[in-house]
Amino acid sequence: MIQPSVKDIRDFSFEELQEYLTSIGEKSFRASQIFEWIYQKGAWSFDPMTNVPEILRQKLAQAFILKPHKIDRKEISQDGTTKFLFDLDDHQKVETVLIPAATRTTICISTQAGCKFGCRFCASGIGGWIRNLSCAEIITQVLHVKEEALKHDNPLSHVVFMGIGEPFDNFDNFMKAIRLINDQRGINIGARRITVSTCGVIPKIKQLANEGIQIELAISLHGYDNASRNILMPVNRKYPFDDLIAACREYIQATKRQITFEYILIKDVTCTDKAAESLKKAFRGIICKMNLIPYNPVSEFDHKTPSTQEMQAFRNRLEQFGILATIRSPRGRDVAAACGQLRHATSN
Ligand code: SAH
Repeated sequence: MIQPSVKDIRDFSFEELQEYLTSIGEKSFRASQIFEWIYQKGAWSFDPMTNVPEILRQKLAQAFILKPHKIDRKEISQDGTTKFLFDLDDHQKVETVLIPAATRTTICISTQAGCKFGCRFCASGIGGWIRNLSCAEIITQVLHVKEEALKHDNPLSHVVFMGIGEPFDNFDNFMKAIRLINDQRGINIGARRITVSTCGVIPKIKQLANEGIQIELAISLHGYDNASRNILMPVNRKYPFDDLIAACREYIQATKRQITFEYILIKDVTCTDKAAESLKKAFRGIICKMNLIPYNPVSEFDHKTPSTQEMQAFRNRLEQFGILATIRSPRGRDVAAACGQLRHATSN
């Protein structure tokens, strides 16, 4: 028997699994059965796969891992947001969030243990970067949340790559996981219900435009010009504000899709008249959505969240300038599950 080069079966795309099965003398249709068990029926081992011959199940169990993540902790916020702390095989910890809402149920996924980008408002980068997550480690987060969502009566409907880490810094594993999420034989969530958020890794924005998949792109902008973004986001020294905006214009042109910009509201820093004026200039001619994210407190930083009035005034200002902006209401703050509050260590 050919030894597989992957150890976790969830690292296989559908086609790769077919290829593997054929290589060991099995029929390729077994891939559909196995995919259905894993991604649709939620099997956590090969045992329940009763329509797969027992001998093949045994072979698969010997060759591959198929098991749940170890759950270290599960915290449920007053607003129903549920945060999982997973303990991976090498004891790296990552967090995943289930966000129930009236019209949708969303998972927020982590792609790395830690983060190397060190944004000066985000908890995820404080301990630095440890390693990339594999495709299987990413997709298994979805399998857990899918199972959990069933308890809320509303099936998992939306996916956001806005947990710990920078998806574009782990591009291949992230893309492979997206394809499994999107694949009708896999988790089967429409591409338009999948959003990836990046801190602005320009070459990968270009690469995504060429992938031919219609997922939503969100850009963590947060600064209103080059100088302010340099201070808040060190990545801006490598991929400066103006180049980023230019890359976004190109992406919109090439894909005919809109981009969502995420913009953090920090009192006296990003939520000012000067900032609104500067954004007006930068966004001339760009049709986009802007999500204004009130700063969620992280103890290591001494930023302040603006008052509701200040945030609304800022939003109105942007709208006067023709920038469609909404203020995102924070979810799960009481269990530190809101944007920017996730971290990879257990010490929070
Ligand atoms: N690395 C990717 C994915 C993380 S997404 C990215 O940077 O886009 C998480 C979102 O929450 C990002 O927009 C991030 O900038 C934002 N965020 C980080 N810290 C925050 C905080 N303290 N308050 C509010 N939003 C924060």
